[in-house]
Amino acid sequence: MNNATKFISTLTLFMVVTLLTNSCKIAQKKVQRDKPYLIMLSLDGFRWDYPVHANTPVLDSLKSAGVFAEMKPCFPTKTFPNHYSIATGLYPDHHGIVLNRFYAPDLQRSYSISDRKSVGDGAFYGGEPVWVMAVKQGIKNATLFWVGSEAAIQGIRPERWYKYDQGLPFASRIDSIKTWLSLPESQRPHLILWYYHEPDASGHRYGPQGKQTLAMVEQLDKWLGKFFTIMRKLPEFKQLNFIITSDHGMASISKKKSVFLTQIIDTSDIAIINGGNPVYNLKVKKGKLEKIFKKLKANPHLKVWKHDSLPKRLHYGTNIRTLDITLVADTGWSAYLSPQKHYGNGAHGYENNWKAMHAIFYAAGPAFKKNYHQPIFINVDIYPLIARILKMKPAKNDGKLDEVKGMLAK
Ligand code: AMP
Ligand code: ZN
Ligand code: ZN
Repeated sequence: MNNATKFISTLTLFMVVTLLTNSCKIAQKKVQRDKPYLIMLSLDGFRWDYPVHANTPVLDSLKSAGVFAEMKPCFPTKTFPNHYSIATGLYPDHHGIVLNRFYAPDLQRSYSISDRKSVGDGAFYGGEPVWVMAVKQGIKNATLFWVGSEAAIQGIRPERWYKYDQGLPFASRIDSIKTWLSLPESQRPHLILWYYHEPDASGHRYGPQGKQTLAMVEQLDKWLGKFFTIMRKLPEFKQLNFIITSDHGMASISKKKSVFLTQIIDTSDIAIINGGNPVYNLKVKKGKLEKIFKKLKANPHLKVWKHDSLPKRLHYGTNIRTLDITLVADTGWSAYLSPQKHYGNGAHGYENNWKAMHAIFYAAGPAFKKNYHQPIFINVDIYPLIARILKMKPAKNDGKLDEVKGMLAK
């Protein structure tokens, strides 16, 4: 081989190696770029039909850009049980967050949404939330105030998370999502769960038909508009899948339709009362169960069941934390322990087949069909849906992928 031939073959080898390295890099980049993303927001207490009564152009445009559904929450239709059902695909009876506040006889400890220690204690939380599933299966993840995300569950926390701070403005929450999605790919979360406490707070205060509640709904829609404007500028935008959902709806209540439990039963017969309007679990003192049950049952505005004898449709009342008796006020009625100083205009917690309790579900992105009206489904189905989108193997759950897979693009 003369020098010229040697030079040409070395050059050819160099070019082939460079070409191969580059195409490898491109393929690698493509694999990263093709990895799906899922960003799910919950707007607390956003009733499924608020957009019928308020001006919500951003949510309306999501209907044609993606998927819309009326979504059924789990019973009891309260914040903590439902956010954690969405996260785990389990009914509250199966994941153990049976109310917003409860005594857990199995742990001999109380849990309350306002007690940071219990909220951050992994012992209360059953099942495998999506972020734990993601950590286990190598999907980067981050949470901003999702129920359960402040605790080490099965010893695992989300990779990025914050302590609950209701005062953090919506705009700052958007900033966090943008910052996370702008991280280098090796650190960038592909699963993000975030939360905002409205329109629930307004709904309680002014009722679901209240002018101020509908104004808050319109404000949220404007903020969502800003959120999507920012998302659209991200280089990964075309790969991003979004879900906007809520934990339950809101019903109108009035002082005139109130039942006071202390006026029906002798509270000295009761060992523990868990819950708040309109839903309670009671532990009754020894030998008093029949007496208490009969008295409560006689009230025409309450539904009352003994432990383990609730209708199948409620999937509730078998967990030891639901105690001896579960009671819930009839639709439109309130149940308080005693007369109140202040009565709100909206409440939730009622049976989950009541439409006023139903939540929103919007989804858009490459994983979803466009302009698709998904038939009504229950929120535990979101769990297998997320697992399918992010190509994860779901843990045991109560959800049914078959109920929701019609919304997927392929
Ligand atoms: P409720 O309407 O009583 O079922 O609960 C709604 C309230 O739950 C909201 O106003 C929030 O303040 C509160 N909340 C929601 N998520 C969290 C959380 N992760 N930690 C503490 N409180 C929360
Ligand atoms: Zn809520
Ligand atoms: Zn609420």
